[in-house]
Amino acid sequence: MRKRPLGQNFLVDPEITQKIIDLANIQPEDNVVEIGPGKGVLTQRLISIIRSLTVIELDPKLCREMESRFGKNNPTFRIIEGDAAKFDYSSIKSGFKVVSNLPYYAATHIMKKLIHFGSRIQTMTLMMQKEVVDRLTAKPGSKEYSSLSVFVQYYCKVERLLEIPNTAFSPKPKIDSSLFSLKPLSQPKVQVEDPQLFFKIVNAAFFHKRKMLKNNLKSWEKHFTCEQGQTRIAGIDLSRRGETLSMSDFANIANHLYSLNE
Ligand code: SAM
Repeated sequence: MRKRPLGQNFLVDPEITQKIIDLANIQPEDNVVEIGPGKGVLTQRLISIIRSLTVIELDPKLCREMESRFGKNNPTFRIIEGDAAKFDYSSIKSGFKVVSNLPYYAATHIMKKLIHFGSRIQTMTLMMQKEVVDRLTAKPGSKEYSSLSVFVQYYCKVERLLEIPNTAFSPKPKIDSSLFSLKPLSQPKVQVEDPQLFFKIVNAAFFHKRKMLKNNLKSWEKHFTCEQGQTRIAGIDLSRRGETLSMSDFANIANHLYSLNE
């Protein structure tokens, strides 16, 4: 059986490694979770700063190497062998920080899982492929703006921190990476009555990126109105494309449909 690739591109540039640790702004009293510690380049620096570190690593071989290098029964260093996209983060004391050079193949899944536990997390300093970070930080009207941008910016303050060339890794991946931070918001960015309906509309609006909203939002056609020759919903001109709508525009549509019992 072919071994499943685990996105194992290890950081080999010591200057960039130090920059990541500096930008993560780790304080000695912090509880930190590192996802995918790999061969331990970030781990080693984190251990030299903080008192409590938990690492989650899927590869059993790398877990054994971690144990022999950093100790198995060290009360301040805990190794969890498992899948970070499936892990129950409520088992970790609330108020922790996350640092990770995420494996490309599972990066979005792991990030979404972390956002689900956002109320327990202070900050996440994450590395992902540049194209995905372009989408996470995108503003309305840009070509990178997508349902993923809306999802992440609804729950978190997103800040781009550093560009990392592919030469900083071994083996060298085909793509460059970016470091960014997510700070979970205490309240979502906009007030919506029904978040499920809000995201249903957001996903529909971006489903066919080139199509106008009147096509993508056809499921709600019976609530379209015609005003001054324009088809609208909640006052929004449906000849626009989803990528031009702000988070408040989406919230207005969702709250309007909610008020109509949709
Ligand atoms: N932190 C190391 C570094 O910067 O050199 C390694 C980063 S490497 C991009 C990703 C790491 O995540 C690998 O060690 C890989 O085995 C691990 N990994 C892959 N999938 C995982 C998952 N679902 N849960 C936890 N760790 C995972």
